[in-house]
Amino acid sequence: MTTTGTAPASTFEELYGHAPEGVWAAPGRVNLIGEHTDYNDGFVLPIAIPQAVRAYVRRRDDGVLRLASTRVPGPAVELDVAGLAPGGVAGWAAYPAAVVWTLRRAGRGVGGADVLLDSDVPGGAGLSSSAALECAVAAAYNDLYELKLEAGELALIAQRAENEFVGVPCGIMDQMASMVCRAGAALYLDTRDLSARHVPLDLAGAGLTLLVLDTRVQHDLADGAYAALRAGCERAAGLLGLSALRDLAPADLPAAFARLPAELVPLVRHVVTENDRVERALDELERHGPAALGPILTAGHASLRDDYRTSCPETDLAAEAAVAAGALGARMTGGGFGGSVIALTETAKAQAVADAVAGAFAKAGYAEPHVYRAVPSAGARREA
Ligand code: ADP
Ligand code: MG
Repeated sequence: MTTTGTAPASTFEELYGHAPEGVWAAPGRVNLIGEHTDYNDGFVLPIAIPQAVRAYVRRRDDGVLRLASTRVPGPAVELDVAGLAPGGVAGWAAYPAAVVWTLRRAGRGVGGADVLLDSDVPGGAGLSSSAALECAVAAAYNDLYELKLEAGELALIAQRAENEFVGVPCGIMDQMASMVCRAGAALYLDTRDLSARHVPLDLAGAGLTLLVLDTRVQHDLADGAYAALRAGCERAAGLLGLSALRDLAPADLPAAFARLPAELVPLVRHVVTENDRVERALDELERHGPAALGPILTAGHASLRDDYRTSCPETDLAAEAAVAAGALGARMTGGGFGGSVIALTETAKAQAVADAVAGAFAKAGYAEPHVYRAVPSAGARREA
């Protein structure tokens, strides 16, 4: 369904012949620091961004699930909720169907719905459009089927949907960020027990801007590489007799390295130092304000580039050019192999930093990056 210029509510009526019962919004996110720590039981510090997926939904009581997106041409995909099975739904529709399947697996007797998704979260930019989509659908079902699930429970449902139905072995950060973040705050999250703290983050008040530089690069190897990295971390934890790498402190590293095969050493070093960077970021943020995050961001990028090896020439260049142009710090955010770089800069320098990155990209022959300004925004909510 392509609907340029048409309001989604009208599109919904044209598609389904009746009005939606409501609209639920769930945002994308950028992670400030704590990359690839969430599947190691570690710490993360994301913010929700203003861009969101909106789900226009009407409950149906005949077990039929109809799915459409303003981003996808063609008619609605029609599915029978009782027949949903992993591997049985192709393409984008697997994401919303996954949420319905997972709720049913969790013993919630949910049925069908008419769903239209409308989004301004750039897809594949490392800003977590998939979690935003899942969370918008989960929030809609929670209300329309009166499930009374807490935000954290809905995030776990959304993560299971992506893990078990879509087949992406993601951690819990993206779904938790999309469900529970608050405007004006970063989310300090312990992914082991999901305890969370909303940490005030007044960028504008500090004269700062957080640029998001979408490199528009998405490498095909991303999915397989992510799973391999996750498996490597789990293997290392097993060899060290730990339930997760989160249980290793920076001071434990030399002894741990002596017990690990060489290929796992850089993975473990990234995860352990990255968890430490989240703790330090929280401390700096609370004691000295957001400008103090700069060097931690840049150190985090070096760790992704040199140890975890999830960066790529485009994200390396964006981070490097941003810092060279006066940004306080910059790093790739998200799973990697492309996607977006965040750069923290004085607002007075933001345009110069964005221009410098665009100039460096032009010189290197790369596509022009898309530039956004990230403001810490609210998590999932009902809008109508
Ligand atoms: P990210 O979550 O970083 O944006 P993913 O590869 O995890 O990237 O998820 C992107 C996928 O999510 C798309 O390929 C598509 O299948 C689905 N998706 C995201 N937004 C929409 C949308 N508005 N309409 C339809 N599908 C979407
Ligand atoms: Mg995703």
